[in-house]
Amino acid sequence: MLETKNLRKVYKTKKGVSVEALKGISLRFPEKGMIFLLGKSGSGKSTLLNLLGGLDKYDDGEIIIKGVSSKNFKQNHFDSYRNTYVGFIFQEYNVLEEFTVGANIALAIELQGRKATDEEISKILRQVDLDGFGDRKPNELSGGQKQRVAIARALVKNPQIIMADEPTGALDSNTGKQVFDTLKKLSEEKLVIVVSHDREFAEQYGDRIIELADGKVISDVEKTDGGEIDFSQGISFEEDGFIISEGYHLTEEDRIAINEYMDSAKKDVKATIKAKQHVSGNFKKTNQDAIDYVDGEFKLIKSKLPVKNSFKIGASGLKHKKFRLVITILLSFVAFGMFALADTFGTYDHIKTCTNSISDSNIKYASVLKAKKMDNDGATWWDDWSYKLTDEDVAKISKETGHDFRGVYMPSDEGMEMTNIKDTSNLSGNEVYCPYATSITGFADINQKIIDEMGYKVLAGKLPDGSKKEIAISEYVYKTYEKTGYLEGKSIEKISDYKDIIGKTIELNGDKFTVTAVIDTKVDFNRYKTIGDSMTGKSNAETLAMYALSRELDGIKEYSLSCVAMTGDGYVESLVNGDGKVINVNTKSIYMDVSNSSYDCSSDGMIKLSDADKSKITWVDGEKSKLADNEIIVPEGQIYKNGENADAKDFVEYLKNEPFFNISYSLASEEEKTDKNWKIVGVIKGEGKAVYVVPDKFYEKDWVGAIGTYSFAVSSMPDNKADIQKLVKYCYTEKDNVKFKMQNSVTFELDSVDEILNVLSKVFLYVGLGFALFAAIMLSNFIATSIAYKKQEIGILRAIGARSNDVFRIFFSESFIIAVINFVLATIAAGSVTVWINSAIRKEMGVLITVLNFGPRQIILLLLISLGVAAVASFIPVYKIASKRPIEAIRNK
Ligand code: ADP
Ligand code: MG
Repeated sequence: MLETKNLRKVYKTKKGVSVEALKGISLRFPEKGMIFLLGKSGSGKSTLLNLLGGLDKYDDGEIIIKGVSSKNFKQNHFDSYRNTYVGFIFQEYNVLEEFTVGANIALAIELQGRKATDEEISKILRQVDLDGFGDRKPNELSGGQKQRVAIARALVKNPQIIMADEPTGALDSNTGKQVFDTLKKLSEEKLVIVVSHDREFAEQYGDRIIELADGKVISDVEKTDGGEIDFSQGISFEEDGFIISEGYHLTEEDRIAINEYMDSAKKDVKATIKAKQHVSGNFKKTNQDAIDYVDGEFKLIKSKLPVKNSFKIGASGLKHKKFRLVITILLSFVAFGMFALADTFGTYDHIKTCTNSISDSNIKYASVLKAKKMDNDGATWWDDWSYKLTDEDVAKISKETGHDFRGVYMPSDEGMEMTNIKDTSNLSGNEVYCPYATSITGFADINQKIIDEMGYKVLAGKLPDGSKKEIAISEYVYKTYEKTGYLEGKSIEKISDYKDIIGKTIELNGDKFTVTAVIDTKVDFNRYKTIGDSMTGKSNAETLAMYALSRELDGIKEYSLSCVAMTGDGYVESLVNGDGKVINVNTKSIYMDVSNSSYDCSSDGMIKLSDADKSKITWVDGEKSKLADNEIIVPEGQIYKNGENADAKDFVEYLKNEPFFNISYSLASEEEKTDKNWKIVGVIKGEGKAVYVVPDKFYEKDWVGAIGTYSFAVSSMPDNKADIQKLVKYCYTEKDNVKFKMQNSVTFELDSVDEILNVLSKVFLYVGLGFALFAAIMLSNFIATSIAYKKQEIGILRAIGARSNDVFRIFFSESFIIAVINFVLATIAAGSVTVWINSAIRKEMGVLITVLNFGPRQIILLLLISLGVAAVASFIPVYKIASKRPIEAIRNK
């Protein structure tokens, strides 16, 4: 079964002193029977037993188990060996105090990868005479009972070898006897190796007694067959008498021998009856060669603790450090929460922030402007006020976003004051904000399809006809008329129903438009009503809330269809063509100068020859029906000679000899261009605006085509965040130096603080990392100390067969539970603080930006870090302990 050959063990103490505890032990052990290792304290008994049980490693020689040498065993082989063959019993019982008797035994069964049933547990308890003790806690048991629990625990594996190190050392002799009785019973089928220093018990129970002294075997005896006293030396003769063994019956020869002795005796002799000498009589030197040695099959079973059970064990471990647990969880969840918060800010991403801000600011319209990237000596910036959208732009945006955008045409850059309303003084209770619409931003065509797509609704009337001067107004604009009444001439008409405004005319851009419909454009008027409240008596917070709301409303007023005069299909195009003949130079940041060394011309605008009134032109070289690519006509009143207004007639004469001029022009913020050799072919009389007359191609391509027509294009904002985000992303993406910037009160605010947020976010990223580190240290410290505290328990688990893997799983379960509690609390805390901070910033500070974006990223990060920390924090200390020999872990209290 088990054999040692020249086994040696040297301990090295911390001070570097070597102690040779075993000095070459060669022993063979049979398949069964009770074998005692006897010897004085320090003789090496425990060392030998620990080596035999695989709890410690030997330095030289070898141990052969079922014919297989363990010389090349790794730690996990020894673990499996213990798990398969050895049941170990310690002097200090080493029963897990946290578990009931039943649970202690169940754990040992589960380590075998079996399910612990009540029947099996009570059967084993019966074997050690502990019937019905299953529900008791170890601290409710006597020492002998505890030791029998330890024996029961050793028995569940049905091991072939039971090893016990001074199992009765801590017991009185009576309870000690019970333990030995139990072991003796087991030794009928198993090999039981018992370390003891009690010779009496050894002789009473042992089948064989091996005595150690100073690391060597000094005697090895076995009980002879039958165990009878050896009577061969029944009588012995000494100089001063003779000794007869107790219970010896004299034979005839003895009688003769005694008589002869007495005859020869010269002085007094003593006849002594000597008491039985059990040892010398009972035992004889062990013949190790006679030990029948059945090699059998050597097989190792790996321990396997089901996850469910390791979880249960881990969870039960938490009950014992409640206070520490609560403190740790509190601190680390706060740190984790802070980390998540810092991260929400640290990962500031303008697309996400913009999306959330739009959603939180209740913005229902999507407006875009055209912005062009400008390069000014390497410094780039975006010009979003000089350019307008062309028809192609609007079509392109609609196609690429999948939303139907409408171009809004503003004949005047300032917007148009609403007309036909009475004085606007009573629209608001304060002088700063106004909840009502007071001006119209422009014209945009609509039709039923658009209305449907935008989710708008016709509340009254019918949609305008694009061939007539008809408009539809929003319900929001209608509210202004409802409030003030409709003014015509000097009479005021009360408006109390949508129908009341239908058919009325409103003057815009110098024309009268008939209102044909009122359309609900989803402006929640009630949301903004309060900004018209009186300011007196308002708290700072309330004032800021009014400010924030008015910012929202400003966006609606400026960039949604709600304040646009909605015209029928085709009307805007005719308006643009009719009105757009003269490009207003000044308002569109256009500049064009025609000059030579003597003369200098300028103008307010530009027109193409086909639109010009030819009767007003004085031609230099005869009338032309078409201008060549470099021909231009300049306005009469804008010709200067050396800074003085020049006479037109003189100028025409001058041109006959010197027609060539340079023109310099710049479009918006683009670089100025200079074309040489343009020929002035005439002058034109101005009425109102002084304009250049330019070739059709130049007008269309270089000016109109480049400048565009529509101030902005508008569509409805999608309802769900994913779609909002898609649209926002599109609007932040540049292509060919152009992007279509989303425009509303949120983007306005966001753009102005984007830079600051970007810098702050970097700071917060580091702050977050700091918190994460702190939280990780907190958590791992807790786990590490709780494991250190359980070192002995780990050793016990190892001794009863658990692999380091099982141990790890138990402790990881414990950490896992903490980590999950931590994760859940941190998520809830960070989530709610985010909501609170966001709404506070909005309400108390009047900012429309949703600064903190707590989302899946933070939740996943929290989860990963919590679990990661739990895994690493439990792995390192458990690994450190598990890689030790089990006996060290047990000793290391
Ligand atoms: P026993 O069990 O017979 O009392 P041990 O096997 O425990 O004896 O010890 C044998 C010898 O080895 C003793 O001299 C003891 O001091 C020494 N020894 C035991 N364990 C260690 C250890 N971990 N470190 C150093 N010396 C040890
Ligand atoms: Mg000992």
